[in-house]
Amino acid sequence: MIAQVGNNSTGKPFFVTVRGKIYAESKEGAGEVVEESVDGAALEGRMVVKEVKSESGGSVNLTEADVIVAAGRGLKGAENLPLVKDLAQALKGAFGASRAIVDAGWTEYSNQVGQTGKTVNPKLYIALGISGAIQHLVGMQTSKTIVAVNKDKDAPIFNIASYGIVGDALEIAPALTKKFKAELAD
Ligand SMILES: Cc1cc2nc3c(=O)[nH]c(=O)nc-3n(C[C@H](O)[C@H](O)[C@H](O)COP(=O)(O)OP(=O)(O)OC[C@H]3O[C@@H](n4cnc5c(N)ncnc54)[C@H](O)[C@@H]3O)c2cc1C
Repeated sequence: MIAQVGNNSTGKPFFVTVRGKIYAESKEGAGEVVEESVDGAALEGRMVVKEVKSESGGSVNLTEADVIVAAGRGLKGAENLPLVKDLAQALKGAFGASRAIVDAGWTEYSNQVGQTGKTVNPKLYIALGISGAIQHLVGMQTSKTIVAVNKDKDAPIFNIASYGIVGDALEIAPALTKKFKAELAD
C-alpha cells in the first residue's frame, strides 16, 4: 500500500491510499519521493497484532504474484480445479478464480479476481475457461501478458489477450503443466 498524508490546495489535510500492484509500473520515473520521519510516539496505537494468518494457506499471495493462473466456469466443476492449481504451482504462481465459480461454491472468495474481488497486475495472467465479462476484466486487464484459453473463439477475453488458445481447458491445462515442468526442470 502506498500512502500519502498532507495538505492540498484547500489547506485541508488529506490521506490517499492506493492498493499495491493495481497500476503498471511507471517507466518515466516522474514522481518525486518525499520521505518524512515520523515521531515514534505518534505511531503508537492501542491495537496489538496477536497473530497473522495467511488466507491462502501458505500458497503464493494473489495480489503479490507475478504469475496467476485463473479458472472460470469452463472448467466444468470443482473436481477439475486441481488441473489449474497444478499449472499455477508449476509456474510458482497463484490460483485465481472468476466470480461464477466462487458463487458456485467451487472455491473460496479470497481467490476471486474482479470488480467485487481482487485487483491484480501480474507479469503473466492465464485465464482458463473464463469468458471475459467486464467485471472480471477490470480486475486483471493491466496484467503485462494475458493468455486466454477458451472453447469459444468469439469469447470477449480474446479481445484483451496477448495470446489466445481456442480449445478445451481440460486438455490444455495439463498439457501446459507438463510442458512447463519439463522446461523449468532443465
Ligand atoms: C455487480 C457485479 C459484480 C461482479 N463482480 C465480478 C468479479 O469480481 N469477478 C468476476 O469474475 N465476475 C464478476 N461478476 C460476474 C461476471 O459478470 C460474470 O458472470 C463472470 O465473470 C463469469 O464467469 P466465467 O467467465 O467463469 O463464466 P462464464 O461467463 O459462464 O464463461 C465460461 C467460459 O468458459 C468457456 N468454456 C466452456 N467450456 C470450456 C472448456 N472446456 N474449455 C475452455 N473454455 C470453456 C465458455 O466458452 C465461456 O466463455 C460480477 C457481476 C456483477 C453483476
